[in-house]
Amino acid sequence: MQGILTRKVFSGRISLCSQPRCFSQLAQKNASLQENDVTVPKMPPFDYSPPPYNGPTVDEIMAKRQAYLSPSLFHLYKKPLNVVDGKRQYLFDDEGRRYLDGFGGIATVGCGHCHPDVVEAIVNQTKRLQHSTVLYLNSAIAEFAEALASKLPGDLNVVLFTNSGTEANELALMMAKLYTGSHDIISLRNGYHGNAAGTMGATGQSVWKYNVVQSGTHHALNPDPYRGVFGSDGEKYAKDVQDLIEYGTSGNVAAFVSETIQGVGGIVELAPGYLPPVYSSIKKAGGLCIADEVQAGFARTGSHFWSFEAQGVTPDIVTMAKGIGNGIPLGAVVTTPEIAKVLTRRNYFNTFGGNPVCTAAGHAVLRVIEKENLQENAHVVGSYLKDRLTALKNKYEIIGDVRGRGFMLGVELVTDRQQKTPAKAETLHVLDQMKELGVLIGKGGIYSNVFRITPPLCFTKEDADFLVDAMDYSVSKM
Ligand code: PMP
Repeated sequence: MQGILTRKVFSGRISLCSQPRCFSQLAQKNASLQENDVTVPKMPPFDYSPPPYNGPTVDEIMAKRQAYLSPSLFHLYKKPLNVVDGKRQYLFDDEGRRYLDGFGGIATVGCGHCHPDVVEAIVNQTKRLQHSTVLYLNSAIAEFAEALASKLPGDLNVVLFTNSGTEANELALMMAKLYTGSHDIISLRNGYHGNAAGTMGATGQSVWKYNVVQSGTHHALNPDPYRGVFGSDGEKYAKDVQDLIEYGTSGNVAAFVSETIQGVGGIVELAPGYLPPVYSSIKKAGGLCIADEVQAGFARTGSHFWSFEAQGVTPDIVTMAKGIGNGIPLGAVVTTPEIAKVLTRRNYFNTFGGNPVCTAAGHAVLRVIEKENLQENAHVVGSYLKDRLTALKNKYEIIGDVRGRGFMLGVELVTDRQQKTPAKAETLHVLDQMKELGVLIGKGGIYSNVFRITPPLCFTKEDADFLVDAMDYSVSKM
């Protein structure tokens, strides 16, 4: 491994440099350099320079973070990155260095950073009216609800707005309990649904669960084609849900909740054929099926607008956040009029949910996805990116699996392909080296050994090449 020093490309030679900034800047100018057959990758050109940054330094920000913010906060890189500007699929740090954003603010920035249409919608609405609450009428919330409902199948046409994915899932779980009169929830091991009482219970990864009471959830076997006990046989895993109903509950359940591609869990796409028999078992047990589209929704998977569509099912409740607002705090639950009616039994109120600024932004996001054919781009460029990553897997033993679809892709590193031993340290190292080359990606999985690639949906083929070349280069130097 390279150690903590970073490589510097200089005058046609590669030397060592203690200042990471050298690498990303100079690497862009030295596309034709070769070392050990792997070319130093070159960032595609981009015609934009951010204004100069005159704010606090990394050290000053770190000091304030340590003094005034939660001790649980963590940052991704050895040398923390101070990101101050964003434009389309690029981010810029405090020294004006450009980075290709392969993470999209954790699968959130779908239209691209600071998309002018979204910014314009936010600014125009903010100038006119920023907040009023739903106690008064306003067209922004109504127009967006109509547009959003039109993107969902069947009679999923009632929208309830929240401020986050956690809130959306909490509301969905409560509505399922009220509607069915049952209390048991079935979710998946390795799923992530939020950090409040019910959603932390539904989450199936110890690293995201505090030691507080989280009762009433049963975690089913994960239909994980790479690590799961039944490989890609979705129907075999589905039997476990039926078993949980029969052995672990009264025979009636409130809901089954799952992602279709697990994001935080390391981009695990549920085995094909899994959801149809599970939804059928849940319905027979009187329960509702909840699709968590917080990460995989809004065209990210390319083949479909919602990831559940790839499994050919129609949920009773769909929850969403992240990509819905391109970065503005917004979440939503979409369900049927019949299910939504349970909330009339008492008063349900959310001060900011559906506020005019956020819903104006959400509406602009839908228009941009359509206008710029972002779903098709996610499909075409995402498939190309996946093919290129798969070719890397054939080149390097350490890459155990490449998976996902569209712009929701995962690359799992293992030190032993047979044992699938997680290559945690190597994952962190490559992540850091890629940053020095100018590429930002995420990581996840319960063992922290999976690269998560979830870029803005305007990512180009040239960006895909640069990302893979940077990964190739970084892995080749280990
Ligand atoms: N569901 C999924 C699938 C998520 O990935 C997340 C966030 N990572 C959540 C729910 C919770 O969303 P939020 O952080 O907005 O509360």
